[in-house]
Amino acid sequence: MAKSRPPFASPITRILESLLDRYRDCREGDVASYIPELAKVDPDTFGICVATLDGHVYEVGDSRRRFTVQSISKPFVYGLSLDDHGVDGMARKVGVEPSGDAFNAISLGEEDGRPLNPMINAGAIATTGQVLAGDPATRLARILEMFRRYAGHPLEIDAAVYQSEARTGHRNRAIGHLLRNYDVLTDDPTPVVDVYFRQCSILVDCHDLALMAATLANQGRNPVTKERAIRAEHVESVLSVMASCGMYDSSGGWIHDVGMPAKSGVGGGVLAVLPGQFGIGIFSPRLDQKGNSVRAVRVCADLSEAWELHQFNPPYCPQTSRRHVHTSAEKHSSRSRHAREAACLRDHGDAIRVFEVQGSLSLATTEPIVREVLSAASDLRSLIVDFQHATAINVSSVALLADLASQLRDMGICVLFTHASRLPEIPRVVADRLGPVAAADILRHQSLDAGLESCENDLISAFLPDQDRRILDVSDYELAAGLSDTERAVLTSLLITRRYGRGESIVREGDEAHALFLIASGVVGAWTGPGGESARRTASFSPGTMVGGMAFIDGGPRSATLVADDDVECAVLQRGDFERLESTHPVVYAKILRNIAISLAAKLRLASAHLDLVTRRR
Ligand code: GLU
Repeated sequence: MAKSRPPFASPITRILESLLDRYRDCREGDVASYIPELAKVDPDTFGICVATLDGHVYEVGDSRRRFTVQSISKPFVYGLSLDDHGVDGMARKVGVEPSGDAFNAISLGEEDGRPLNPMINAGAIATTGQVLAGDPATRLARILEMFRRYAGHPLEIDAAVYQSEARTGHRNRAIGHLLRNYDVLTDDPTPVVDVYFRQCSILVDCHDLALMAATLANQGRNPVTKERAIRAEHVESVLSVMASCGMYDSSGGWIHDVGMPAKSGVGGGVLAVLPGQFGIGIFSPRLDQKGNSVRAVRVCADLSEAWELHQFNPPYCPQTSRRHVHTSAEKHSSRSRHAREAACLRDHGDAIRVFEVQGSLSLATTEPIVREVLSAASDLRSLIVDFQHATAINVSSVALLADLASQLRDMGICVLFTHASRLPEIPRVVADRLGPVAAADILRHQSLDAGLESCENDLISAFLPDQDRRILDVSDYELAAGLSDTERAVLTSLLITRRYGRGESIVREGDEAHALFLIASGVVGAWTGPGGESARRTASFSPGTMVGGMAFIDGGPRSATLVADDDVECAVLQRGDFERLESTHPVVYAKILRNIAISLAAKLRLASAHLDLVTRRR
C-alpha cells in the first residue's frame, strides 16, 4: 500500500509557528487586573492569525480562544460614527492628535473639552455617544451589527467582564460626566458609558481580529462575505488614528519600528492592518507597562522585518499595467481588406496605436503609460486604450487618462477607451472630467476590435484616394488575381450581380452553401451565435474581398451569418457554375481555387494574430 504523505504546510504557516515557538517561553508582563474579571484569563494563551484579501486565514496556536476586544473596539466604533457624521462632523467632537497620556487619562481639550483622539477612553466614550440611535439598546445593536459585518458572523458580549467593568469603571464614568459638562456628550452620560463598557466586552478570537483587520485593509469590504463594513472613504481616517494613537503610549515607537496601523486592547489582543495586503490578529494576554501585549508586539516587529511590511519603506514592486502596445501596421482588426487597403495600413498604420492595459491600475502604474503615449503623440492619428485585462483602477488613474485624452483630442487625435464599461469608475470619471459628449465619443466602441476597425477606416479614408477604395472592374477582385484577359472573361460570364440593403442578411449561419460572394461595394459583417443581443460580430469584409469561401470549398454549413453593414453590391459565383469549370476551363478553375486558398490562408493568419492578441499574457 502506498505510504500516505504527511499534510503539506504552507511556508507562511511555518513562519507563524516559528514565532509561536520563539515567544512561547516569554512570560514577561502581567495580565490586566484593574477590571477584576480580566485577571482570570490563562496568561499563557497565544494565537496568531493572518488573513489575506481573498479571505484565506492562516492560523496558529490558540487562534480560536475568545477574549474581550476592549480598546480594539475603539477604531471600529469611530468608523461607525464617521459613517454617521462624516469627517467634519466627528472633528467637532473628537480630535486626531496623539495625546502622550495614558489611555484612561482624564484628557480633554482645555477650552472645548474635546478629547484629543478617539483611541483614548475620553475620545472613545465621546465617539460611542455619537453613534446615531434613539436609545442605548439601539446604539448597542448598531455597534454589534457593525462588528458582525467586520467579523463575518454575530459576536456576543461577555456578561461577566461587562459586569466587572460596570462595577469598577468609576473613572470612565467620571470621564463621561466631564464630556457632558463640556457638551461633547449632550445627553445623560451614564447610558453612553454603559454602552461603551458593553462594546469593550464583545468577545472575539484571533481569527475574527485578522478578518476585521483584513476588512480595513480591503477598503472596508469583508474579504470573505464581501459585505461592506464601513464606507471606503472613512477607512483612511480609522487607520490614521490607529497609526498615530493605536498602541497607547508607545504609538510613536510602534509606528517607527513596526510601521503598520494597529490597535491593542487590555484584553491582550492586537490587530494590525497592512493596507491593500492583509490583516493580522494576535492574542496573548500578558501586557507591558504601556498596556500592549508583550508577545504580540514582538511577533509584529519580527513579521514586519521578515516580510518587509513597514509601510513607509515598502519594497519596490516592479508591477506594470502595460500589457501590450501595438500599431495597426503590426496587428489589425478582423476586417478583411482589399490588397490596396491592406497596403495602406502597412504604410500608415503606425499612426494608430493600441495600449492594452492590465491588472490593477494605480497612479504609479498609469504614469509610465501616459509618458509613453505622450512621447509618441506627435505621430499619432488615433489612440486606443483597451481595458479588457484591467481588474481595477483608481479614480486618480482614470482622471490622468481622461486628462491625457482631452489634450490629445484638442490636438485632433482620435482617442478611444475600449472595454471601459467593465470598470464603472471609467465612464463615471471620464464623463465628470470631459463632459457627457466627449465621454460618449471616447467610449463609443465597446470592443477593441470595433474601435480598431473604425480607426483603420478613418486612416484609409485619409490616405487612400477614393477610386482606390472602389471596385471598378473584375480584375480588382482578389478572386481574379493572376487571371489573363480571356480567363477573366470566363469568370465574368459566370458572375451575377446582387444587391442587399443595410441590415439585410446575405446568408445565415448553418445554411447550406451554394455561392461565393465578391464584394463590389459596401461592407459585409459576419455574425455568430444566437441572434439578438448575444450575436457577436466576428469579422467584416471590404470591397474587393470574397466572403463565404470556407463553406463554398468544403461544402459544410455556413459558419456565420453575413449581414450588409450598409448598401452592399456583390458579384455572386454559384458553386455549380464553378464546379463545371473544372472540365470546361481547368486552368481558370485551378487559378480561382488557388485564389480562394490564398484568401482563406490570409483569414487564418488574421484569426491567429487575433487569438494571440486575446490570449497573450504578460
Ligand atoms: N474597557 C477598558 C477601559 O476602558 C478598555 C481599555 C483598553 O483596552 O485600553 O478601561
